[in-house]
Amino acid sequence: MKAKPNVLVLGCNFAGLTVARYLHHEAKDAIKITVIDRKNYVNFIPNIPIEVFNNNDPADNLEFSFLKFLKKDGTSFIQAEIEEIDAANKKVYFTPNERNGSAKESISYDYLVVAVGCKLSFDKIEGFAEYGHTFSDTYYGNKIRKFLHNDYKGGPIVIGSDRFIQGQSPKLPKIPTALAACEGPPVELAFSLADWLEHHKLGDAKKITLFTPAEVIAEDAGKKILDQLLPMVTKMGYGYKNNTIGIKKLTKDAIEFKDGSSLEAELKIIFPNWEPHHFLKNQPFTDDQGFVITDFYMRNPDYPEIFAVGDAAAVTVPKLGSLGHMEAEIAAKVIASEVLNTEDKSEIKPLSPMVLCFGDMGNHKGFYMHTNEWWGGDISILKMGYTPYVLKMGFKNMYYTLGGKVPSWGMPLSELIGDHTLI
Ligand SMILES: Cc1cc2nc3c(=O)[nH]c(=O)nc-3n(C[C@H](O)[C@H](O)[C@H](O)COP(=O)(O)OP(=O)(O)OC[C@H]3O[C@@H](n4cnc5c(N)ncnc54)[C@H](O)[C@@H]3O)c2cc1C
Repeated sequence: MKAKPNVLVLGCNFAGLTVARYLHHEAKDAIKITVIDRKNYVNFIPNIPIEVFNNNDPADNLEFSFLKFLKKDGTSFIQAEIEEIDAANKKVYFTPNERNGSAKESISYDYLVVAVGCKLSFDKIEGFAEYGHTFSDTYYGNKIRKFLHNDYKGGPIVIGSDRFIQGQSPKLPKIPTALAACEGPPVELAFSLADWLEHHKLGDAKKITLFTPAEVIAEDAGKKILDQLLPMVTKMGYGYKNNTIGIKKLTKDAIEFKDGSSLEAELKIIFPNWEPHHFLKNQPFTDDQGFVITDFYMRNPDYPEIFAVGDAAAVTVPKLGSLGHMEAEIAAKVIASEVLNTEDKSEIKPLSPMVLCFGDMGNHKGFYMHTNEWWGGDISILKMGYTPYVLKMGFKNMYYTLGGKVPSWGMPLSELIGDHTLI
């Protein structure tokens, strides 16, 4: 009997869990799936700000174990630190990380799906450890929660991104260049933090300045949406600073930018450069930064057994979980159709990049954005009100209940409600 192909999935947060679950869904027992991650739970990052503003530890509601879902599918899990990918010999080296001192091991694959996200380079920002805050994981969520609820005196606040260095390669499909990795979260936080300030009688939007290294913030939202959003932001009293080039350093009372300017700030909420992990740099299947080169079927052109989904993939710009979700479904279908040799491959649609996001605006309201204008498309929808907030919370519950395998109708249903509901 022919051995089943080994599919190795590296990383198991949004993109990794979804691809692993869809691989099983599509290929059933025809493949053997192994997943490696350094932790055994998903961190539901987009909802960290909501927990922080409600003074909850994000770990209580946003870390959920994926083990039972993988077990149900018959997928093997290895808890380990991924160290190295040897593409020529189709091997991955890892070190089990439950205890210090484990010896490095290797595992072979027939297909590899890279879903390891990125390194968020706070370590490259001078003064971040002492004076910076963010919402990107449980540790930083709790750090800013304590600051806001105990120490914040009501001084000026800045929210924005450091310069993102997007990878380049002649082998990549044509996509626009972004100067910030992910500017939905800074915009979302500006709204929800202003609401928090008002509720705590500490001020309002006028305390907050949004900044961006680019010509315009959230450029990927497209011109039509920005023409609505930016005048609204100005009218509400937010400060706005563009073309900062990047962050030079943080000090106790200010942020300094690479364009030579600075802003006074008691609270500095920072989104850094999203950098590829060290083991992806200088690989024959990655671009000049270390993002994995793929086509819109999420497959590497030189190593057809290597796929990438989520933030680690070069075509994922901006770095959005919703893009990673779509990519995970595509990669799973392509691998399954090849292994099973049944499905008509022309049925599988390539990635059609778009921004699809739900943001919290505080006070149980939210915004919904659905656009592909930045990529040359004609979809451009922005809605605000109670429904987008309900959809944001509903998506998290659906994700938990179904263990990352949000059915293919899950995203379109949210789109449909978001696009057509009058709010
Ligand atoms: C504050 C904030 C709010 C956001 N809001 C939204 C939003 O509203 N909508 C949206 O679509 N996106 C949002 N995003 C972006 C979204 O969180 C990311 O796009 C998404 O997490 C990417 O998923 P991923 O699975 O590719 O990578 P990650 O979520 O980063 O997961 C990577 C996984 O790989 C594992 N890993 C990495 N390196 C190793 C290693 N060496 N060994 C073992 N394991 C490893 C990690 O443990 C992790 O589990 C937000 C981001 C932030 C920071």
